[in-house]
Amino acid sequence: MTALAGRAAAQEKTGSQAAATAQASPAEPALSDPRSKYPQPPYPEQRQDWPGLVSKMDPRPDHGEESYIGSGRLAGRRALITGGDSGMGRAAAIAYAREGADVAINYLPQEESDAREVIALIEAEGRKAVALPGDLRDAAFCRQLVEDAVRELGGLDILVSNAARQQAKKSLSDISDDEFDWTLKTNVYAMFWLTKAALPHLQPGSTIIVTTSVVAYDPPEMLVDYAMTKAAGRNFVKSMAKQLGSQGIRINGVAPGPIWTPLQPSGGQFPEDIPQFGSDQPLGRAGQPVELAGIYVLLASDENSYATGQVYGAVGGSGGP
Ligand code: NAD
Ligand code: MG
Repeated sequence: MTALAGRAAAQEKTGSQAAATAQASPAEPALSDPRSKYPQPPYPEQRQDWPGLVSKMDPRPDHGEESYIGSGRLAGRRALITGGDSGMGRAAAIAYAREGADVAINYLPQEESDAREVIALIEAEGRKAVALPGDLRDAAFCRQLVEDAVRELGGLDILVSNAARQQAKKSLSDISDDEFDWTLKTNVYAMFWLTKAALPHLQPGSTIIVTTSVVAYDPPEMLVDYAMTKAAGRNFVKSMAKQLGSQGIRINGVAPGPIWTPLQPSGGQFPEDIPQFGSDQPLGRAGQPVELAGIYVLLASDENSYATGQVYGAVGGSGGP
């Protein structure tokens, strides 16, 4: 199904859902059960080489491709999203375009096929889509990325620092110095470099969003280095909100719980843990990226103008902010 056909089908479905709702008595609204709304464990065993591709996941994650419906909440806005090819970044990119924003996405060259799908989905909304591949571990690249996004979008007023690396390791001694550096460069340094480069371009009313994690609150033993970086992101949001408030720039975080994205089967979890991923949350399953799309939209939009220095969670019921 093409992106446009998918949208039409989604709207048609929404129309029939609306009709069903109209027929139902007020005491019987059309509800969807959050436990069974999306695939439940056990998930098929699977393993991918890092950084992983959406196209190789089973079941395929839902980023809102056929379901997210916008309503002009980000009309004319200009967003740069790192990790915009897949997972939470893709869900935000699709939602932003459907809310009326132009969107630049950054990703790794190995993810070009995933990125092309996102570019097509943004363009299907009649919005400008800019593909800016490259490795965020390089400070000069981060600065160039922001400059390229500003030039291509004609400015910038939403920065989503979302890309990250997560590799599960049984013991601290299994984390090589190079891997530790890799994780910190990707998850912490890039957030710093990108924010620093973006700030001169951000006008009052602009927003920065950092993807942190449930692990910033309860770090698991197999994600020592990664959890540190997610705590750093949460802390960055808190300090920078104090610094940026007087400039009229808001900064907030999103804390996902276990979400069905390529990061997990490409080393983020041990392969034997994938089938039961998310099963220990009260909702009993992994979340889907689309279930966080609304948070990224809300945090970027003017309707949320008094929220800064906050972290909004979607974790399935246990832990988080
Ligand atoms: P994902 O694999 O879809 O996205 C991560 C992206 O990071 C990749 O697509 C890749 O483009 C990018 N990336 C990694 N290293 C990079 C580098 N050196 N240079 C440029 N880009 C690089 O996975 P996701 O789960 O959607 O991850 C998005 C965010 O969500 C991350 O910040 C992650 O920490 C956070 N998160 C995920 C979960 C989860 O369960 N999936 C839970 C909590 C937080
Ligand atoms: Mg990816």
